[in-house]
Amino acid sequence: MSTLPKIHAIKGMNDILPPESARWEWFESIVRQTMTRFAYRNVRTPMLEHTQLFARGIGEVTDIVEKEMYSFQDRADKYGDNDHLSLRPEGTAGVARAAVEHNLLYGGGQRLYYLGPMFRRERPQRGRYRQFHQVGAEALGYAGPQVDAEMILLATELWRALGLRDWRLELGCLGQPDERRAHRAALVAYFEAHADQLDEDARRRLHSNPLRILDTKNPAMQALAEGAPRLLDFLGAASQAYFAAVQDALRACGIGFSVNPRLVRGLDYYNLTVFEFITDRLGAQGTICGGGRYDYLLEQIGGKPAPAVGWAIGVERVLELLKEEGVAVPEPAPDAYAVIPDAAALPQALRCLQALRAHGVAVQMHASADASLGSMKSQLKRADASGARFALIFGADELAETQVTVKALRDGAGAQQRQPLNDVSTWADGLRQRLT
Ligand code: ATP
Ligand code: MG
Repeated sequence: MSTLPKIHAIKGMNDILPPESARWEWFESIVRQTMTRFAYRNVRTPMLEHTQLFARGIGEVTDIVEKEMYSFQDRADKYGDNDHLSLRPEGTAGVARAAVEHNLLYGGGQRLYYLGPMFRRERPQRGRYRQFHQVGAEALGYAGPQVDAEMILLATELWRALGLRDWRLELGCLGQPDERRAHRAALVAYFEAHADQLDEDARRRLHSNPLRILDTKNPAMQALAEGAPRLLDFLGAASQAYFAAVQDALRACGIGFSVNPRLVRGLDYYNLTVFEFITDRLGAQGTICGGGRYDYLLEQIGGKPAPAVGWAIGVERVLELLKEEGVAVPEPAPDAYAVIPDAAALPQALRCLQALRAHGVAVQMHASADASLGSMKSQLKRADASGARFALIFGADELAETQVTVKALRDGAGAQQRQPLNDVSTWADGLRQRLT
C-alpha cells in the first residue's frame, strides 16, 4: 500500500480532461476553419523566449513584464549562456520575433495565426489562470484601416461560427507617438495635480508610463482615471481619418461597436486602432478578445519597420461564455462498440474492428480492468453507456457463420442485422455517424 503524498497540479494551471477536452477540440477545429476562410496560416513559436523580447516588445513598465512573467536565469554551461528566459505571457512578441528572424516579410505581408498556452503569474480566479490559452491572429506587413477592419471581422466571424452571441465591441484609437507624447504631458500634469489620490502602482508609473494608470484595476482610482485628459482629443487629422475609416468599414459590414476613449490595453506596443470584445456574462473577467495595431513592434525588437495589426482571444473565457449561453457542443461518441462474449472470438473480432476503422468507423473495443470479458449483458450495458449508435456482437453463433451482429442502440434501438465478418466494405459506411 502506497503512502506517498499525492502530487497536485500547480495552482492556476488546469488539466483539460474528457469530456471537456472535446469542447476544446471542437473549438479549435472551428478556429482553423475560420482562419482558413480569411487566408490566415498557422505559426508555432517556442513557449520559452529571451526575457528581453517581452521587456522590449510588451514594455518594461507593464503589469505583464513587471510582475506576471515566469522567468529564470538559465545555467551557463555548454547548453546555455546564462540567459534570462521567460515563459511566453502572450504570443505576439514571439510571432514578431520569428517574422524578423526568418525575414518573413521579405516578399510582402503575412497573415498568421496561432493557438496555444500562455503563462502569467496572476491571482487565479474565474477566467484568470496562470496557464491559459490564446488564439491569436496577426497581419504583419499590412497597413491601412481595411486591415484593422478585417482583423475585427475575423473575430466576429469566429463568434458567429461558434454560435456566440453575447459580446460587444469597444473601439479606441491610440494615435501616433507624437500625439501620445502630447497627451502624455497632459496626463502627467493631471495626475500630478491629483497626486494624493494615486495608489502605489500609479505613483510609480506617473513618470515612466502614465498611460498605464488609465488601465488601473483599482476601483478606488476609477473616478480619477475617468476624469483624465482623453487621448482622442489629441489626435491629428490623419489619425482621426484613419479611425473614421475603420468605423465606416465596420458599419458597412453591420458590426455594432462603441468608441471607448479609455481603452488603452495592457501592452505598450499598440498605436492607432485598439479594440476589445467584451461580455457582461463573465463577471470582472469579461474581455474575451483584445487587440490592435502595432506598427512599431517589429522595429522595437530589432527588425525593419513594418506595419502590423493583431488580436488575441482568451480561450478559457470563450469556452466559459459558450457554456453560459448554453451553446450545444457536439459530444463525440464511437460509432460502434464491440461486444465480445467469448475470448476465442478475439483474433477475428480485432481483425474486423481494424478493417472497420480503416473504413472510417470509430469503434470502441470492450475491455476491463481484470482482462475478463464479463457477460454479454454487462458488455451491452457498457456499449449503451459509451454513446455508440451500434453494438457489434461477435458471438459464437455469428462466428460459426463468419458473421457479426450489428445491433442498433439509438435510433430504432433493438433492430439487428447480420453482416459478413470478412467483408466490411459493404456495410462499414452504414455505421458511420459523421460522414465527412
Ligand atoms: P485582462 O485585462 O483581463 O487582464 P489583458 O489585457 O491582460 O486582459 P491580453 O494581454 O490582451 O489580456 O490577452 C488577450 C486575452 O487573453 C484577454 O482578453 C483574455 O481573454 C485572455 N487572458 C489574459 N490573461 C488571462 C489569464 N490570466 N487567464 C485567462 N485568460 C487570460
Ligand atoms: Mg492582464
